[in-house]
Amino acid sequence: MARKYQPVFLNYVFTLNIDKHNVHRPQCVICLDVLANESLRPQKLKRHLEKKHGDHVNKSREFFLQKEHEMNNSKSVMSSAVFPSNGLTKASYLVAEKIAKEKKPYTIAEQLILPCAKAMCREVLGETAASKISTNPLSADTIRRRIIDMGEDIEHQLYANLEANKFVVQLDESMDVAQKALILIFVRYRHGDDFMEDLLACDDLQTKTTAGEIFAVVNKRIAVVNNFKAESMISEPRYAKSTIALMSTIHIYNVAHGTFEFGL
Ligand SMILES: [Zn+2]
Repeated sequence: MARKYQPVFLNYVFTLNIDKHNVHRPQCVICLDVLANESLRPQKLKRHLEKKHGDHVNKSREFFLQKEHEMNNSKSVMSSAVFPSNGLTKASYLVAEKIAKEKKPYTIAEQLILPCAKAMCREVLGETAASKISTNPLSADTIRRRIIDMGEDIEHQLYANLEANKFVVQLDESMDVAQKALILIFVRYRHGDDFMEDLLACDDLQTKTTAGEIFAVVNKRIAVVNNFKAESMISEPRYAKSTIALMSTIHIYNVAHGTFEFGL
């Protein structure tokens, strides 16, 4: 036989919560925990109040009524929080950005950041805020997607800046752990009253570190950025080829700080 909720239970910090089977269950108006139907007895409820909310033991009924009222008002907030609002989506992007900048594993969001945020919200702002923050989408997969999104956006912004401005290309070389030759393409361009420098690409040289290969890689990247500017390079392949040939005849190391000007 299921127990029934009594209004007097509010004196022990519990309000009525009716579950989907129409069974009465006690819900704490402070921590919002919902207990089993068998806990609907004064002794059990009192124990929760004493153990978990010791500082509220001697509070008046008015105080608990007020808490119950606050809890009912916060229900609408919680149901809207199930579907990420703009604020929560933006928050998960901000977390992803920090994770990327600190080079931390994606899983840290769900394993550490979210529990910390919840604990801080609960302590400083209350249970409603903690419940809302706990719906923040922060799984490893979400973080991965957010970082890819932001990376693509930065890339597109860079392309847009390069299309709108004259720019200078600088090449550098490196080698990855598998001893593969990499070519780094830096660009410098005017942005407002300032000069900006960005990494346009880091590509591996598939086979050889020859002039032809370097030309092909750089040309492909420039073509992606700006067909018009690439055109001047393509229309004068002798200029581009001879410049790169000159550099790579010394050695790929000397490609390091060669500066070209395309489309100027
Ligand atoms: Zn409680």
